[in-house]
Amino acid sequence: MTMLKKQLGNKFIGAHVSAAGGVDQAPLRAREIGANAFALFTKNQRQWVAKPLEPKTISSFKANCKMLGFSSEQILPHDSYLINLGAPEEEKLEKSRAAFIDEMERCAQLGLTLLNFHPGSHLKKISEQECLTKIAESINLAHQAVPDVVAVIENTAGQGTNLGWKFEHLAQIIEQVEDKTRVGICIDTCHTFAAGYDLSSFEACEATFAEFDRIVGMQYLRAMHINDSKIPLGGKVDRHHALGKGEIGWDCFEYIAKDTRFDSIPLILETIEPDLWPEEINQLRTFHAASLNESDH
Ligand SMILES: [Zn+2]
Ligand SMILES: [Zn+2]
Repeated sequence: MTMLKKQLGNKFIGAHVSAAGGVDQAPLRAREIGANAFALFTKNQRQWVAKPLEPKTISSFKANCKMLGFSSEQILPHDSYLINLGAPEEEKLEKSRAAFIDEMERCAQLGLTLLNFHPGSHLKKISEQECLTKIAESINLAHQAVPDVVAVIENTAGQGTNLGWKFEHLAQIIEQVEDKTRVGICIDTCHTFAAGYDLSSFEACEATFAEFDRIVGMQYLRAMHINDSKIPLGGKVDRHHALGKGEIGWDCFEYIAKDTRFDSIPLILETIEPDLWPEEINQLRTFHAASLNESDH
């Protein structure tokens, strides 16, 4: 019976692939690396404004996804790095909110239902509490503007004045979001570790995810970024590494691959050597397959 139950679990594993030449190219690139999930930018991530998506690019994106078997729960679009949904200054906040709504609209046009973003920074101009409230209000405004898309908040490494590195920050944002069915969390393993939550052994993973569950709730986990870290535990700097080559090590990734709580959500590599992606994906699949056999005792 356990075996049967475990076999139903599905792991969606992929990487953040390039959308150069058009977003419709991204699913093709994901396929090339053996992925059954992918992340992408739907516009240039370093610019405020982008041309609207062309109808022919939209239909080609949808056709490619359908052909290759990518459904919306396997795709995790990421917003622009310029957006600060907790910006202290009104002008920057307005600009960020408008850009975020545009990102959500692009997702909706592409038939996508998740939008991954970094919560925001207080820039030492407002308190953490005020900043978290602004972020939650930004999400509420986006929800009102665009139906259906889930705002997926990524935890951060705690670099500079970025909020969202403590699980409490994430919980406080969610608490102030009106439509809780459309807010979720993306846990980035590198950020989590850099923020001071240990993931370097099975026991450490067990404790860290128990804490996440206690403070935020596993039901909010909608995606993960699977990265090793160049920075030691609690270093508060965001520097990704290839899996197994950094300070976290393989145990964490084996833990995630084998644990059914991480089934059916996009598990996205943002590791620094794209040439290794096919191998990294394969290794995660091997761990997952082993867990299916392990239950057959
Ligand atoms: Zn990330
Ligand atoms: Zn990062």
